[in-house]
Amino acid sequence: MFELSILGCNALYPSNQINTSGYLLTVADTNILLDAGSGVFAELKKRVKPESVSAVFISHLHFDHISDLGVYNYYLEFLAKKGLFFGKIKLIVKKSESAVYQSIAGLNYFEIVNFDDETPILLDNLKLSFFKTVHPVETYGVTVCYNDKVFTYASDGNICDNLERAIKESDLTVCHAPFKYEERGENKPHPSALEVCKIAKKYGSKIVISHLFPDCDNSALKEECFAEYDNCIFAVQGEKYSI
Ligand SMILES: [Zn+2]
Ligand SMILES: [Zn+2]
Repeated sequence: MFELSILGCNALYPSNQINTSGYLLTVADTNILLDAGSGVFAELKKRVKPESVSAVFISHLHFDHISDLGVYNYYLEFLAKKGLFFGKIKLIVKKSESAVYQSIAGLNYFEIVNFDDETPILLDNLKLSFFKTVHPVETYGVTVCYNDKVFTYASDGNICDNLERAIKESDLTVCHAPFKYEERGENKPHPSALEVCKIAKKYGSKIVISHLFPDCDNSALKEECFAEYDNCIFAVQGEKYSI
């Protein structure tokens, strides 16, 4: 069984105790942290020992997805100096020439695992495969398969074939879709929530819509989605969803 805990679901910045992007995926004995936005480390630590996490997946190098990696590394260093942590945690991230990537690659208590979008990575009994999304910086979603269940974290990115395929083939997909339908556009960094609802409805798939803009009234956006597809879920920090 897959269990997904929402550790943060805001876009851009944390506000009113809602963190930016972070999700804990638990399958059998394996815990994977999906992105590490601002405030996510503290939520992770409430649920599991951060040193016991099998891997951290980073979808892309925007700060609302990576800003807690540095404090996570401090935590591991603190434990290591007390003799309570040995080794490193796998950090699954696309290789890049950017300065931000170089600073992440320099975190001592993480072991960088680079991926490409053709070769799956095996982690314990899970198969992780990666697909590119359409976003202003290079961004990847991850699909995790275990037994006959399929989960996708699509992260940031506008409508594209890869996103549609992921929703179609997954039992549960987390989509970052903060725009109202009237705000959608080809050049936007994200789709509208209604567009991803329409795709999920077409395939009868379960979706969690997340990464909404902070300090905004998102009620109209939610209403238009529920009118289209009452099976859609809006992420709530602290909630858990299972498949
Ligand atoms: Zn984002
Ligand atoms: Zn982004």
